[in-house]
Amino acid sequence: MRGSDAALLSLIDELEKGSFDQSELGRRLRQCRDQRQNVGNFPVGTGGRWRCRSVVCPSCRRAIVSRYIRAMESWASEMQSSDLSLVTIMLAKTDRLTWVNEMVEKFRKDFRNCRAARVKQNPRWASVSARGHFEVDAVLADDAPLFGPQWREMFCDLAAVIDGSGDDVLWVPHVHLVVHHPGLDWQEIRDVFRERWAGFRRVDVTRFHKEGTATENAGDVAGYSLKSHAGNRFLGLTAPWPVEWSAAYWAWIWEHKAALRCLSMSMNPMGVRGGKDVDSEEDWTIDDEFDEDEDEDGILFWSNAVLDRYQVPPVFI
Ligand SMILES: [Zn+2]
Repeated sequence: MRGSDAALLSLIDELEKGSFDQSELGRRLRQCRDQRQNVGNFPVGTGGRWRCRSVVCPSCRRAIVSRYIRAMESWASEMQSSDLSLVTIMLAKTDRLTWVNEMVEKFRKDFRNCRAARVKQNPRWASVSARGHFEVDAVLADDAPLFGPQWREMFCDLAAVIDGSGDDVLWVPHVHLVVHHPGLDWQEIRDVFRERWAGFRRVDVTRFHKEGTATENAGDVAGYSLKSHAGNRFLGLTAPWPVEWSAAYWAWIWEHKAALRCLSMSMNPMGVRGGKDVDSEEDWTIDDEFDEDEDEDGILFWSNAVLDRYQVPPVFI
């Protein structure tokens, strides 16, 4: 059994122990997975194989994510890399995953208002547009030092929305935005966003590579933002979340009708309405073959407590 299948089965087991909705999600994932495993029983070309079409399912997710990547690529296709920057902004930390919805909603509004306020000083801000995806990290406060001193300081400085009776884990929503800023220097973008979302290293602005086309670069950002690895990278190495975190996270995602839409945003230039709707997950096609995930990294020199928490297989130590 491959590592990714073992991880999926343990997620399914955990979901099936949960609430009615969670166990329903677990049941769908299991059915989809069992059919994939028995693929040899379905004669080639007969089609009609049932798919759960859930973004939680590692197999079905690829088709959904690829739609978002293509939409990002087509959005950037007429742009120049020199007018584009990747902007990452940390929203807050919270012990209630359900509060992330409001944080995302507030951020969307704040971002629009930030541009609108700037337009009064410099009309070029009216042409600023953006497109991107929210991602949620999960971390125990005790583990923050593992991410390195800079991350730890950012994490400590970040606004906390803490209930006290919520989860042990802190959820850390952030957004990866591709910002199109024709006529504006990337430094100006950076300074304005750093002023608006103040805090140690809360805003990171990276210019697009000059070598790649805007389409390639933007597609890379979308793929990176939607990676959904549900793991933490410490010291350059990846550890999957404990299965309880994954179950809570995916159950939360699954509550949303178009799951990835709740974690996406786009902002057109002022005066331009619309934009292609890519949010529907109803009508999509499945690529014929998906590769299995291959993101096995080694893990070194962690304390036993951390190793236990992340259930790091001994083979990696
Ligand atoms: Zn599926």
